[in-house]
Amino acid sequence: MDLASFPRIQLAHLPTPLEPLEALSRHLGGPDIYVKRDDCAGLAGGGNKTRKLEFLMADALEQGADTIVTVGATQSNHVRQTIAATVKLGLQAEVLLETAVVRDDDYAGNGNVLLDNLMGATIHHCEPGENLDVQGHALADELASDGANTYFIPTGGSNVIGALGYVDCADEILGQAGEMGLGVDAIVVASGSQGTQAGLLVGLANAGSEIPVYGICVSRSGAELEELVFELAKKTADFAGVTAPILPGSVMCDGGYYAPGYGQPNDGMIKAVTLCARRVRPVNPL
Ligand SMILES: *Cc1c(COP(=O)(O)O)cnc(C)c1O
Repeated sequence: MDLASFPRIQLAHLPTPLEPLEALSRHLGGPDIYVKRDDCAGLAGGGNKTRKLEFLMADALEQGADTIVTVGATQSNHVRQTIAATVKLGLQAEVLLETAVVRDDDYAGNGNVLLDNLMGATIHHCEPGENLDVQGHALADELASDGANTYFIPTGGSNVIGALGYVDCADEILGQAGEMGLGVDAIVVASGSQGTQAGLLVGLANAGSEIPVYGICVSRSGAELEELVFELAKKTADFAGVTAPILPGSVMCDGGYYAPGYGQPNDGMIKAVTLCARRVRPVNPL
């Protein structure tokens, strides 16, 4: 595999730090937890979609696109990072937001939506139920028939091109862990559109690493997600020229955390987020 042979543009601040969560690890009584700070990737608030966009946007530019079309749920981090990338590159952004979570507060106007609007994207809305990528493609076709050179990015930027960002990230993690003298027993990721988990699996397989990757489902059952991650990982390995096999048994997804549904908090989640917010400081700051 030679990742350098794929078109890529620099959008992320890399490498992102790999930091110990000392107080949290101590509070929980172990294991030693480290966080890969992809929230520091640097694109209008950061996040994991930026690594994918380095490859996707390079492909879009190679194809002569002037308009990027993408899709997501109302508070999509992917949509916000994609819009930021278009601003940076001087492209138009047309996004389709699905009203997947209905709430009676200002959910539909704050957070990422505030930034999406601030950055000047054209926002379209649709109801849930239909296939969002199909609707996004239809929007792209419509814009193309009006003369735009469109480039469509699917949900979460998770196709074989976007997943290359996390193939590369696997190497980054292995390199940092090596420098820090750190033995990694497991990698845990939130997993939705599959590109992050699939990319890491391919990158680790390519490096001959046997570190297990656990995907925590944000939007579907474990069995369903395992199948989707496996499919994308196989396709990504083919695309990237990785010859190491992707074994079905290496794809592990846990659907036990996302109740009552996508984008909806539960008591355990609020407790966990609060705990993290209060227990991440270094134990001996001086
Ligand atoms: C998109 C996203 C994920 C999931 O990544 P996928 O590649 O879509 O599986 C996890 N965490 C955050 C904060 C995200 O925005």
